[in-house]
Amino acid sequence: MAQPGSLSSHYDVVLAGGGIIGLSTALFLRQQGLSVAVLDKGAFGYEQSSRNWGWVRTINQAMEELPLAVASRPLWQQWAQEGQFGYTRCGLLSLAQDKEEWAGLETWLKNARTLGFDARELGKSEIHTLFPQSKGTWAGALYSPGDGRAEPDLAMQFLAKKAQAAGVVLIPDTAVKSIDLQGGKAHGFVTENGLITGSALVVAAGIWSRWLCKTVGITLPQLKVTASVLRTKPLEGGPEPIIASTRFSMRRRQDGGYNIAQRNSSVTHVTPDSIRFMKSFLPNFLKQKKLLSVRLDSTFLKEWQQEKQFGPNAANPFENFRTCDPEPDRKTLARTMARVREDMPAFANAQIAGMWAGVIDVMPDALPVLSDVARYPGLYLATGFSAHGFGIGPASGQLMANLITGTKDTLGKEHFTLARFGCNGEKA
Ligand SMILES: Cc1cc2nc3c(=O)[nH]c(=O)nc-3n(C[C@H](O)[C@H](O)[C@H](O)COP(=O)(O)OP(=O)(O)OC[C@H]3O[C@@H](n4cnc5c(N)ncnc54)[C@H](O)[C@@H]3O)c2cc1C
Repeated sequence: MAQPGSLSSHYDVVLAGGGIIGLSTALFLRQQGLSVAVLDKGAFGYEQSSRNWGWVRTINQAMEELPLAVASRPLWQQWAQEGQFGYTRCGLLSLAQDKEEWAGLETWLKNARTLGFDARELGKSEIHTLFPQSKGTWAGALYSPGDGRAEPDLAMQFLAKKAQAAGVVLIPDTAVKSIDLQGGKAHGFVTENGLITGSALVVAAGIWSRWLCKTVGITLPQLKVTASVLRTKPLEGGPEPIIASTRFSMRRRQDGGYNIAQRNSSVTHVTPDSIRFMKSFLPNFLKQKKLLSVRLDSTFLKEWQQEKQFGPNAANPFENFRTCDPEPDRKTLARTMARVREDMPAFANAQIAGMWAGVIDVMPDALPVLSDVARYPGLYLATGFSAHGFGIGPASGQLMANLITGTKDTLGKEHFTLARFGCNGEKA
């Protein structure tokens, strides 16, 4: 890896943010012959991309994203032949607790069928065959045999090595402080170690993208949601497929333990941005309100102060928070674990090995932004994956690379424009 403090060159493309999106975009750009550098304020892949549940799924993806989910499968498979990061097509079982949830799954399947892939409804006996451990009763279930899992931390180590071997320059511990413009065009990133220039610049900074965009007056309507996870010590007799339900969710780990979480337990803290963007987030929030709790606490004041600290000449939150590592919601995780023990004798004596949390970047329509910025030629955004970015990361990186090089692609880039929000004076 390049040493922080040794910035000098110009690259065809420079990316701010080395999570799965920044790294996979960089890899595909490099494979098209471009010179590419990726900057990260801390270690590569250390925020959302290594903290997630490790699901690589199609079930319940938005229709607009489904082509990216399907196109990511062969990429994951190809990468898994090159390195060991626990990728397995173990299948995903999505279970409905009641009629309302089942109606939602049925509607999703009806729409998804038109795109032609492997998810299907299961009868009661099939649910039992796939999930014999459960004593619970379910109103219905969908199953996708091609969905899978991977170990996010190992996957990120693999991807960083792969990108580097392909010739991508990785520059860790180097915070981008602001975007540099020359003559109305993107010119470079101002970092804590100096200016690095690129013919194209990509902001792939996860939850920090909003603030980075703000340094040049671009409004990115992005908010943050905190999600918590626990892992158990290895145990025998648990389910093989990923189990997705609002009662609990789980997936087997490579070490024989399980990652366990509750889908409907994410927390959003009220911030100045929540108020600014309330109108655009409200419709989706009302639809998802059972999945999210809202908290008004000291976060509001902290963010109020932090958001004044940007710019090329000041130490700023990008340098002060090398890794976003929030406190997990231990109470909710304990409740979730109690449900798991109650429903599955195999987990009665399961021991908890650890708990952690991550902060998710969400957009008003829960779809990512994979887009140019009309106002500043040469500037691109790849962010806002709204909790789906790990599984669809590979094809999203490919789409983003194609967008930058002008290569033809068919993966629905029209759904992922910044212009769709109409926040920056563009035509929606
Ligand atoms: C608890 C949890 C569970 C999840 N489960 C799943 C799942 O099972 N399946 C799934 O598909 N998705 C899941 N997700 C979502 C998924 O992890 C994300 O969508 C995806 O990792 C986003 O990748 P990213 O590269 O955009 O962002 P990140 O991984 O957050 O990377 C952004 C990077 O940018 C760097 N950066 C930020 N600002 C700057 C700056 N100013 N200068 C330099 N570098 C900067 C950061 O340090 C970071 O490394 C989950 C997320 C969480 C938190």
